[in-house]
Amino acid sequence: MSYLEGWKSQIIKLSHGASVGHLPDAEGDNWEYTSDQLSSLVHADNNASFTVALISAPLEDNYYMRRLGDKVAVLSLFEMAEIVRFSDFTVENYILRNIYELAVLYAANGALILSDAYSWAHDDVRGCLFDMNANKSDIVFSLHQPKLCDACKARVLSKQVDSGFLPALSKELQKIKKALYFRMSEWVKAHPILALIVAALSAISLNLIASVIFEKAKCLFPWLG
Ligand SMILES: [Zn+2]
Repeated sequence: MSYLEGWKSQIIKLSHGASVGHLPDAEGDNWEYTSDQLSSLVHADNNASFTVALISAPLEDNYYMRRLGDKVAVLSLFEMAEIVRFSDFTVENYILRNIYELAVLYAANGALILSDAYSWAHDDVRGCLFDMNANKSDIVFSLHQPKLCDACKARVLSKQVDSGFLPALSKELQKIKKALYFRMSEWVKAHPILALIVAALSAISLNLIASVIFEKAKCLFPWLG
């Protein structure tokens, strides 16, 4: 949680709130927590614009995120923790991506539940915060530097939002990305021949540097040669 609380942002400020130590048994037929049940368990923190509860159990209709009210949402790690880790992302990537999705909704509507009937989510996978991800594993396409697609951007612009909101959002979403090691390893997988050439060139240049250093060292310490 400290990584999330330390997240630098002009749009969101995350803080860890109160938690429920022991959940009651799930009311759903398949051991999932229904929205009604969760609504009675999770309450909005009065000091925050909205509250997001994290839960490891499945949610109603197998969604990974549900909005329970204007100020409360619940985000499930059920199956999602494996999906994101399998693709070399972190659970923090997943949490941040979804909090930004809620933050856009909140900024545009002043509440998590929309006042109009049209959902923001689109079936098409565009690497956008509002990809529906009916197939849960499609979330990986909006975990590395997610963005708002043109249609969603236009929708934000049609609402009363601060003029600095979209530029700040786009800058901050760039910071949600895979760790450097995994990005390098993907580059090597995508360009194996080039990677070999780079490795060979680095070996030669290291050798040259070593020779130069050795020649210099011989001048300073003649007993070396
Ligand atoms: Zn979109």
